[in-house]
Amino acid sequence: MSAEAHRYAVFGHPIAHSLSPDIHSAFAAQLGIALDYRTIDAAPEDFVAQVKRFFAEGGLGANVTLPHKNVALALADKHTEAAARTGSANTLTPLVGGGIEAHNTDGSGFVRDITERHGFDLRGHDALLLGAGGAAKAVAWALMDAGVRSLTIVNRTPERADEIADAIGEPARCRTRYWDGLEGECFDLVVNATSIGVTGGDFALPMSIVQDHSTAYDLCYGTASAGFKGWAIAAGVRPDWFRDGLGMLVEQAADAFERWHGQRPDTDPVYRELRQRY
Ligand code: NAP
Repeated sequence: MSAEAHRYAVFGHPIAHSLSPDIHSAFAAQLGIALDYRTIDAAPEDFVAQVKRFFAEGGLGANVTLPHKNVALALADKHTEAAARTGSANTLTPLVGGGIEAHNTDGSGFVRDITERHGFDLRGHDALLLGAGGAAKAVAWALMDAGVRSLTIVNRTPERADEIADAIGEPARCRTRYWDGLEGECFDLVVNATSIGVTGGDFALPMSIVQDHSTAYDLCYGTASAGFKGWAIAAGVRPDWFRDGLGMLVEQAADAFERWHGQRPDTDPVYRELRQRY
């Protein structure tokens, strides 16, 4: 790495598993940009101080992952609409003249992956979203913006799903249901934005909510997507119409990269390389 390489980082806790350094380094290599992109393990009590120190010492951009995404928005001096809507940030950028701007690329990364990589035109389709955490919020807004005919949100804690639907404020198109209140419904797209694949738990959903024309998309990837994939295929989703979140991971990184470097990388070779591993 050259001495002039510009400093970027991803903050999380834990963070050693993060693919962000590999992804950003591959983008930078493609475009001939000298980059020093590191992981920074920040315990919750140290996160704000570490971020401020990183930027004070010349850091040019930071990604943020669990468990810091909400605090990342709160610490910022300015935020984009995408960050405000999701109540969390995964991309921090220093402002000219001082301060930090918070942005969230999860929603745009999801839509780009499912539409451009997988060819699923979201317009006019009925979508079911499982979960109401930070990632689900981003996906909910993105699905609405992309023109789904209807969006149904279910969550273990139903009040959190209601909060998202209330914030979206389009009751004719976006509604909530209880996990056990989906009998008799059928969806073109089911998106898993819960952390069940990581933390453990069951997809106790009626199999009738999907048919063989339905697509299932899990924000998780690798072994963490095995549970939802198993449920989806058992319920009738064609195996090649199951998508995991690896492409979203690459696309949300590309959106952050473009924000920082003003150039859009070609995500396909990076996705293909990671696909060999996951
Ligand atoms: P989060 O804010 O912690 O939300 C977790 C969600 O999962 C909540 O809705 C929670 O329900 C639900 N949940 C957890 N355990 C459950 C269980 N046993 N049964 C039912 N629901 C359960 O997490 P997040 O940041 O939104 O992330 C969600 C997932 O998306 C994670 O696995 C993360 O790795 C993945 N993700 C992937 C990408 C990507 O680029 N591919 C980007 C962002 C996130 P309650 O509200 O009831 O607690």
